[in-house]
Amino acid sequence: MQQKIILVTGGAGYIGSHTCVALAQAGYRPLLFDNFSNSDPSVIERLTQLIGPSLLVLRGDIRDLATLKEIFQTYPCYAVIHLAGVKAVGESVAKPLDYYDINVTGSLVLLKAMKQAGVSRLVFSSSAAVYGEKTIPPFQEQALLDPINPYGRSKLMIEKIINDLYHANTLQSVLSLRYFNPIGAHPSGFIGETPTGTPNNLLPYLMQVAAGIRKKLFIFGNDYPTADGTAVRDYIHVMDLAQGHVLALQKTEQREGCWTFNLGRGRGSSVLEVIDAFEQASGQNIPYEVIQRRPGDVAASWADPTAAQQQLGWSATYNLEMMCAHSWHWQCHLDSLKVQRK
Ligand code: NAD
Ligand code: UDP
Repeated sequence: MQQKIILVTGGAGYIGSHTCVALAQAGYRPLLFDNFSNSDPSVIERLTQLIGPSLLVLRGDIRDLATLKEIFQTYPCYAVIHLAGVKAVGESVAKPLDYYDINVTGSLVLLKAMKQAGVSRLVFSSSAAVYGEKTIPPFQEQALLDPINPYGRSKLMIEKIINDLYHANTLQSVLSLRYFNPIGAHPSGFIGETPTGTPNNLLPYLMQVAAGIRKKLFIFGNDYPTADGTAVRDYIHVMDLAQGHVLALQKTEQREGCWTFNLGRGRGSSVLEVIDAFEQASGQNIPYEVIQRRPGDVAASWADPTAAQQQLGWSATYNLEMMCAHSWHWQCHLDSLKVQRK
């Protein structure tokens, strides 16, 4: 039987690359589409080593309708997994126009191209950032949606657009997956997160401190109403997240519908707890300094993953120590793999 081709926008990125591996393992043929604005092209070679030569790769921007039309004309795409976008909360506060342009306009262009090509199955990468700070965690999918930064608002806008397209019969089967905080790397150490410039996210920054690239970690605030004063997040292994995409895709094969699921472990860890787990897993000491809160951050965020467990058959398998161990394994491989740090 011919493998189903799945267009993975942002497929060269952190979550996208791991999702391509999980898709290939599940018997799909990923078609990776990326403009490499936040990924290193060398990931393709490493992905090919993990997946084999069936991986399809195309360079381009999701805001380029002509390119997307051509792709859909050339390849019979069964479904789209849409991950391309920008994701840094703090940056989104400083550059809202970029966030709305890449995330919202980019999604609109992609959806237009899908409609023209008659591709009606979609898995969209949404975020826990859609919940905001008025709801007390654990967040259920039907909780108040009140994002407090442009990044979260851009994701919520796309979720709403997708819902409208489902009700207009443009999309037949669509899932918005609200990711919590993916960390870790593929256990092989071949792929992982390679942020461009100074890392915005906690784990990539922390790993660069552990590797001696940066002197210390800056903790953004220790005056939050949490047990130790530092902000709490629901960290989830990127391979567990990748598997969530496979199950979401299988859901689109089984029935028509429009669903939203949290993908998180259902437990929160503070910044200090993450540092502790990382030190245990890596044997490295992490110097840090507490500075002021980062604009746009909520105090605490963790998921209620019950719906994904019951309706997708998904659950997280890795604990925080394993996630940290795989992150560190990846960081230790970076130089030998000649991955470019921009
Ligand atoms: P990433 O930056 O590693 O991957 C995104 C990829 O999209 C990159 O390879 C980048 O080059 C590509 N890209 C960006 N703009 C593009 C464009 N206009 N056209 C084509 N390609 C483009 O980020 P990630 O962590 O893998 O996140 C993937 C998706 O998941 C994003 O939409 C993000 O908002 C969402 N998400 C991420 C997290 C997280 O903590 N990593 C949490 C929740 C949601
Ligand atoms: N954080 C931090 N120092 C950093 C990066 C992040 O203290 O250099 C904190 C941040 O304030 C948040 C948590 O770590 O409470 C996770 O941040 P990240 O940017 O990784 O994910 P977010 O939850 O913002 O999407």
